[in-house]
Amino acid sequence: MTVRIGVGYDSHRFAPGGPLVLGGIRIPGDVHLAGHSDGDAIAHAVTDAILGAAAAGDIGEMFSDQDPAHRGRDSLEMLRAAVGRLHGMGLAPRQVDVTVVAEQPRLAQHREAMRAALAVALGLPPSAVSVKGKTNEGMGWVGRGEGLACLAVATVEGAAEPIAAEHVATAQAATARVGATDRRP
Ligand code: MG
Repeated sequence: MTVRIGVGYDSHRFAPGGPLVLGGIRIPGDVHLAGHSDGDAIAHAVTDAILGAAAAGDIGEMFSDQDPAHRGRDSLEMLRAAVGRLHGMGLAPRQVDVTVVAEQPRLAQHREAMRAALAVALGLPPSAVSVKGKTNEGMGWVGRGEGLACLAVATVEGAAEPIAAEHVATAQAATARVGATDRRP
């Protein structure tokens, strides 16, 4: 059994008109997060964290923002699809920790609902999902209320993967190419 760690980051700009979708829940108010999907920056950061832990690509590659099929898409559904990709590799999320940096909304009253929604999508108990909120002390674009940022760290677990011979050959070929480039005048 092997444990792998991944990190994810996302930010979205506020736009007029609520509700704001964050951590899989809808927060009433007069702003939402602009984005091609529903703009759920927590779900996007968590998706990138689990994909990163699995070295299985990223959310932009799985769900292109050029594809009209993803317009307004439910980001928890995208997270579930990423969990499915991990399952296909013999890996599963084990634990997630999220920090949201925003002046508004204050997360405390929404925290438990977010943990529950993310946990269901990840196939985990809520005790394995942490959501924390920070302000940016009024500094910079977050401080001016232009948008919010999220950081996520995830661990995934699965059977230890033997290094296949073809992967070693690919790595050696790539290294040789880099070396050749470096020797160019
Ligand atoms: Mg995003």
